[in-house]
Amino acid sequence: MKYISTRGDAPSLDFEGVLLAGLADDGGLYVPESWPSLSNNDFRALRGLDYAETAFRVTRPFIGNSISDDDYRQIINESYASFNHSAVTPLVQLGPDFWSLELFHGPTLAFKDVALQLLGHLFEHVLAKRGERIAIVGATSGDTGSAAIEACRDRNNVAICILHPKGRTSEAQRRQMTTVDAANVRNIAIEGDFDSCQDIVKELFADKAFRDSVNLSAVNSINWARVMAQIVYYVYAAVRLGAPDREVAFAIPTGNFGNVFAAYAARRMGLPIRRLVIGSNANDILTRFFEADDMSIRTVQPTLSPSMDIQVSSNFERLLFELYGRDGQAVAASMKEFRAEGKLIVGQKRLAAARTDFSAARFSDTETLAYINEMRARSGYIMDPHTAIGALAGRAFHEDGVAMIVAATAHPAKFSEAIQKATGNSPEIPARLAQVFKKEERFKVLPNDAQMVKAEVHQLVETLR
Ligand SMILES: *Cc1c(COP(=O)(O)O)cnc(C)c1O
Repeated sequence: MKYISTRGDAPSLDFEGVLLAGLADDGGLYVPESWPSLSNNDFRALRGLDYAETAFRVTRPFIGNSISDDDYRQIINESYASFNHSAVTPLVQLGPDFWSLELFHGPTLAFKDVALQLLGHLFEHVLAKRGERIAIVGATSGDTGSAAIEACRDRNNVAICILHPKGRTSEAQRRQMTTVDAANVRNIAIEGDFDSCQDIVKELFADKAFRDSVNLSAVNSINWARVMAQIVYYVYAAVRLGAPDREVAFAIPTGNFGNVFAAYAARRMGLPIRRLVIGSNANDILTRFFEADDMSIRTVQPTLSPSMDIQVSSNFERLLFELYGRDGQAVAASMKEFRAEGKLIVGQKRLAAARTDFSAARFSDTETLAYINEMRARSGYIMDPHTAIGALAGRAFHEDGVAMIVAATAHPAKFSEAIQKATGNSPEIPARLAQVFKKEERFKVLPNDAQMVKAEVHQLVETLR
């Protein structure tokens, strides 16, 4: 399997190459040169298989010759052993033909664990084979940092250093990062805001000498391997509800477009998906696009679903590549215009094509809270605010006789204030989250200074030699 850049001007790479590269040299994102496909009989053969074996069969075509079958099976088994549900991503019925696909049974109780746990093990394997080490550096305002730390802790040949803005994350979010006791993990609280943290990370990546000296890398959501890992649960859930002999639809609370793009990939591989429904909060750039070809950047508004508070969905470029008939030059031109003008228009023909696959709807915080309480009253099920937005969108586009499956992206206990506000009661705190309030925290406070962060990363890397 070869991967090509969405901007058409970077060398094509194999799976190992895209795993380590993340972003392509031309600023584009890597996508498979062609979509592998599974036949209806291939899908039927997945019935009754566990998550790990499903993951192996669904993602094997993307790996090519990079990893042997035995090694890859072992990597998958180890990755999902950290989930505390034997179905890994269980389905829960919420109503007639209405389902919750719970993606939050991993170490940090949010769906990013599903992809990042696999990524950590893939890195370890590939680096050992190449005799290399990497240092992962990232900035976080909350959830991604903890999922990345849990994915990389105790992995050989990987060091991870995560910056968070001092005093500006919730206590639970901070503790999920800072209570991890592993020699290869370093948490730094920067005296500044999230943008200061991001600027430091950018400065580190811009310094070629530093970058090469520690073999700097990132685990951001544009990495193809993350999208690949997310394809699995769409197949797993659809097969359990009768695919390929029955169509299903998915509703997905969307921010960076990574999760919903994985569902699109499943459809391209042959899974009969009737519709992909996107839920947006007040930051509704995607909904404006699918409704009216209006992808224009506005300022970010804080909402009760903070993991979707973004203006530009980085993975959208992968869909754009398909809408432009896989013409990298056209995508590059269009992205250049988007950056310059803050606005992207694809035209009626391409929009119509996009709308055969996708629908989108936006919901306010008030609607989200009301729905959380309504769902609790109707089915006794507590949803986090992100999931509630997905479910609201799913309800809006629910067709008779087609099972609607909502991607439940975070455990409600991660957003207990919103749940309290919606229902009058705090959700039950699972043991995994309760634990972090008992453990000792480890982090270093540094001023807003890239040089000092570089020194810290150097030191971390040295201790692992
Ligand atoms: C990251 C995240 C999302 C958005 O997923 P994308 O792949 O960025 O679209 C939704 N909900 C939760 C809880 C998240 O952490």
